[in-house]
Amino acid sequence: MGSAMTAAEPAVGLAARLSATMPALRGRLLANEPLAPFTWLRVGGPAEVLFTPADTEDLAYFLKNLPAEIPVTVIGLASNMIIRDGGIPGVVIRFSPKGFGQVIVEEGHRIRAGAFAADRKVAVAAAEAGIGGLEFYFGIPGSIGGALRMNAGTRSNTNPEIEGETRERFVEAKAVTRAGEIVLLKPEDMKFAYRNCGVAPDTIFVEALFQGFARPPAEAHAINAAVQEHREKDQETKVRTAGSTFKNPPGHSSWRLIRDAGGLDLRVGQAEMSRKHANFLIAHDGATAADIETLGEEIRKRVKAKSGIELEWEVKRVGIG
Ligand SMILES: Cc1cc2nc3c(=O)[nH]c(=O)nc-3n(C[C@H](O)[C@H](O)[C@H](O)COP(=O)(O)OP(=O)(O)OC[C@H]3O[C@@H](n4cnc5c(N)ncnc54)[C@H](O)[C@@H]3O)c2cc1C
Repeated sequence: MGSAMTAAEPAVGLAARLSATMPALRGRLLANEPLAPFTWLRVGGPAEVLFTPADTEDLAYFLKNLPAEIPVTVIGLASNMIIRDGGIPGVVIRFSPKGFGQVIVEEGHRIRAGAFAADRKVAVAAAEAGIGGLEFYFGIPGSIGGALRMNAGTRSNTNPEIEGETRERFVEAKAVTRAGEIVLLKPEDMKFAYRNCGVAPDTIFVEALFQGFARPPAEAHAINAAVQEHREKDQETKVRTAGSTFKNPPGHSSWRLIRDAGGLDLRVGQAEMSRKHANFLIAHDGATAADIETLGEEIRKRVKAKSGIELEWEVKRVGIG
């Protein structure tokens, strides 16, 4: 990320310059645009430039013409993201529901979804169409683009029906590379792993196709409801969080490691760990990204001291402090 956003050129200058060099651009470029309202944690500074592409071709045109030295960050529904207080230098890309939010039911129990479609919308559309296997998306508050990047999914010790992971249902995805090339990615290209995928970090997903199976709508809706019930029982759903803060280390649960290291008593500024689910971090009113990140780092230190295990952030931290 490097240089501070105001160093060489005011944000308005960069937006105006990009606009001037891309006469065929149809999407919207905004300078110095606040991002906190778009995030689940409601913290963080502005985007130097926020770009909302009109459609895939517009995104490809933009990236093709964007000078290579300008950093690009894509955000989905920012439910797995801490945007730092100094904001994000370069260009932030955020889709619109109109351009990238569609969900289409296809033959053979398949669902095609735009990268900005909410996971929950996909689960509901699948249930209505008599397609099973996508119910786990009902409880994940992100977008399909974020689900592909994170290999989003859910495990349950008590009810296998509510379990699932993006890679299990994935058929193919359309994406745009940093060079502006539109590509089709197959399962072997995705290199899915636990809460991760191996596609180049600057490649942007625009659409995905998922394979489900026949399941009566009433059954699928009932499983969606069970997903919701499970969430409300075991997780924080009424406060500002980013879901699981840390990945589970092999053979361990992060929440247990955090609890055993005394992490539940920690608070930094207006950020604290949840007592309901010790791997969730809560941002109270007035919290800053610095409060949240400092709390997370303190937790990592305590867990390392107590158990020798290094927790790895699941939440993506972007921007400058
Ligand atoms: C209450 C709560 C519960 C949660 N429960 C779960 C859960 O059970 N399982 C789970 O897996 N996650 C869970 N999460 C975390 C989060 O919802 C998922 O990681 C989700 O997939 C993130 O999607 P997003 O659109 O919000 O992505 P963002 O948070 O916006 O971004 C996450 C990452 O994806 C990248 N990204 C986003 N869109 C694109 C795109 N179009 N192309 C390329 N990269 C992109 C971003 O650059 C970033 O690196 C939970 C979060 C909350 C707040």
